[in-house]
Amino acid sequence: MTESERKLINPDGTRLDGRSKTDIRETSIEAGVSSRADGSALIKMGNNIILAVVHGPRELHPKHLVNPNKAVIRCTYRMATFSVGDRKRPAPSRREREISKVMTESLESVVLTHLYPRSAIDVFVQVLQADGGTRCAALSAASVAVADAGIPMRDLIAGCAAGIIEDQVVVDLADYEDKEGTGDVPLGYAPSVDEVSLLQMDGNFTKEQLLESVELAKEGCRQVYLIQREALKKKYSDIREEVAEEIVEEAIELKENIEEDQADITDFMEEEEEEEEEDFIDYGDDDEEDDEKVVDDLLEPTTFFEEE
Ligand code: UDP
Repeated sequence: MTESERKLINPDGTRLDGRSKTDIRETSIEAGVSSRADGSALIKMGNNIILAVVHGPRELHPKHLVNPNKAVIRCTYRMATFSVGDRKRPAPSRREREISKVMTESLESVVLTHLYPRSAIDVFVQVLQADGGTRCAALSAASVAVADAGIPMRDLIAGCAAGIIEDQVVVDLADYEDKEGTGDVPLGYAPSVDEVSLLQMDGNFTKEQLLESVELAKEGCRQVYLIQREALKKKYSDIREEVAEEIVEEAIELKENIEEDQADITDFMEEEEEEEEEDFIDYGDDDEEDDEKVVDDLLEPTTFFEEE
């Protein structure tokens, strides 16, 4: 049986990787993975591994692209030559330029660009390993990277596709489902503000299938959205823990310094007291001796004359 003839849905309704039609692939996102960039995120969605980094807001070059009213977002999507089975040619393909454009437009819909007039927000996305649905996963990572850069946004954009395999609409197609299925609908969606900012379609759909695909893709985006938020929360709770640890360390050091200072002061005071005591005894002895001599002299007033 060739791959195009094999069944993609098991008799029990599950897909070949065991997912139900509403399950997205196992997904993890880590924010702040690059120390070089202003913001970054790494997403693993199924076998996709994608890195997104953000530089900016920063001065825009070339100057003729400057917009005096808002920041210009420039998103660049690239696939590494080793990211797919057959070596990908390194030159930017038409597909990569298209994905860069739709990602840019999607991010523009949520980023508060008017806060940064005359500047650039550069988003670089590198697909390290591709397994279908890379534009959606890339968009999810890019949006976390923008948030990680501290750039205000109305909402995060989550990306997820839905498509048709064996006449059934399923969410988040893996590469083999994308290739062996009959169509897919990649979606970029901002769940909190309920806005779709990327919608593409590849293949033949009935109106019902298209509407169902959009709803299912939105549901997939909501699942991705939770993971995006967790990634950002984790980054900032890690920072909070680091700061708290630093404060505790500083407090311990300060306490030790104070204790050392107190010990020095105590030693100093003890030494002073000892010295004072020594001084007091010396003077006391002399005085006593002098007094005794005076008394003796007084008691024997005649001695002097007698001796003479
Ligand atoms: N693909 C590939 N070589 C390429 C471009 C894409 O092998 O030059 C694979 C890759 O796994 C990708 C899949 O085809 O994820 C589907 O590509 P599509 O254009 O539908 O975009 P995507 O689904 O990744 O957003």
